[in-house]
Amino acid sequence: MDKEQKKKLKTQFKKNEQDELLASLPMSIDDLKDLLSFLNRESAPECDHTLKEAIEFIKSRNLDPEVIVPWLGEHGGFCDCEVIFNVYDDVGDIVGWHLEEDS
Ligand SMILES: [Zn+2]
Repeated sequence: MDKEQKKKLKTQFKKNEQDELLASLPMSIDDLKDLLSFLNRESAPECDHTLKEAIEFIKSRNLDPEVIVPWLGEHGGFCDCEVIFNVYDDVGDIVGWHLEEDS
């Protein structure tokens, strides 16, 4: 296999991964981005090793925590700060790496 072909396969693989991730999202991309911005806001309290803040946001959007919390866990988000670090790491490519400063 030549280099060009390898590169192509790699791009395709990445695209498939993103499609799968998109298909698995338990909420819209906008909600997900807002969730990350919310957790990342400057006035956010220090993480108390629960998903308290995330769940508060999920409920404020009338989304179902019973669906979303396990999904966050699948991406390593077991508490609010891990959502910012681990989940954002996984979904950054599809939500865009720039979070709103205040929303
Ligand atoms: Zn934490």
